[in-house]
Amino acid sequence: MSAAGSAGSPGEGVEPAQFAELIPLVRRVVAARVPDRATVDDLVQETLTRVLAAVGRIGPGMLEPYAIVTARNVVASLWRDQDRDRRNQHRVVDLRPSEALDEELLADEDRTAVGEALARLTDQERATLLAHEVSGQDTRSLAAELGSTAGAVAAQLNRSRARLRVEYLLAAEHAEPPTDRCRPVLLALSGGDRRRQAEVDAARHLLECDFCAQISGPLIDRGRWRTDVVRVPVQADADVVAARQAVREVAARIGFAATDQTAIATAVSEVTRNVVKFADTGEVEIGTLEEPRRGVRVVVRDAGPGIPDVEQAMRDGYSTYEGLGLGLPGARRLMDEFAIESDVGRGTTVTMTKWVGVR
Ligand SMILES: [Zn+2]
Repeated sequence: MSAAGSAGSPGEGVEPAQFAELIPLVRRVVAARVPDRATVDDLVQETLTRVLAAVGRIGPGMLEPYAIVTARNVVASLWRDQDRDRRNQHRVVDLRPSEALDEELLADEDRTAVGEALARLTDQERATLLAHEVSGQDTRSLAAELGSTAGAVAAQLNRSRARLRVEYLLAAEHAEPPTDRCRPVLLALSGGDRRRQAEVDAARHLLECDFCAQISGPLIDRGRWRTDVVRVPVQADADVVAARQAVREVAARIGFAATDQTAIATAVSEVTRNVVKFADTGEVEIGTLEEPRRGVRVVVRDAGPGIPDVEQAMRDGYSTYEGLGLGLPGARRLMDEFAIESDVGRGTTVTMTKWVGVR
């Protein structure tokens, strides 16, 4: 049996079975374009990883079209890489200087694209976004200035960010969408707004419009793990301390205030202590996120007996062992997002996220 915790878990709205059904579909799309079996396997994996990373940002009805579009894009980028390798093989000069030049050129183009994208926002959108992102003005004081509420300002900021991402991509590609329907679809995808995605029928549009199929990848495929994931194996009480210290270090590095560092470290040690107590062995994985804002994500897994009744375990007052600590409900309160999945006889996975600056 399996159960999910509070809202905002990564796989929210999508059943594992639904996801499994995508595998033959993705395989068909890839195998139709790539002859070599091992490469097909790799690309299917790559596609599924990307779709899984995007699951929280797209409605359940979007899953199939997004998987198809992603599979096509993954194949296309393989061709591009191979083509570049082939071209580079013929070069006789050292490649490094020219790569450095490319990077400089890219950084330059990047700045230009950001400038163009900002120019496409309205004056008020731009002023508010810059005051918040660059000058660090908080939503409450912005709301006071604008005669609005903090919640409304936060929602407006999200919409502005979504627009900025779309306009940035279009500017970077030097492209204008071919139809009037494209921008609304791209905006709904960029904002992760499922209701709007359904209203503009983003699923169908992605399948029909090559332009949007190609450009939408980076809009949906965000919040991915960075590569500097820290892993702490867990077997004994000393490992609980190690996990606690590791997560505190990561939290400090990415800019969490001291009180938040303590909250995160406490949540992690609460959950990790359960692993030592009940499961003997497990692992804590600590990663950072860049989108939609900076944050830390911690996954604690074990191969223990599992929790028969997750709902009950998440209730206050319920303690998995003799009255010690805050338990799972306490850990959940300390984090912004908290999801728990448990299979009896197979183990438990807790995924927790906290965002920098979210109150
Ligand atoms: Zn389009």
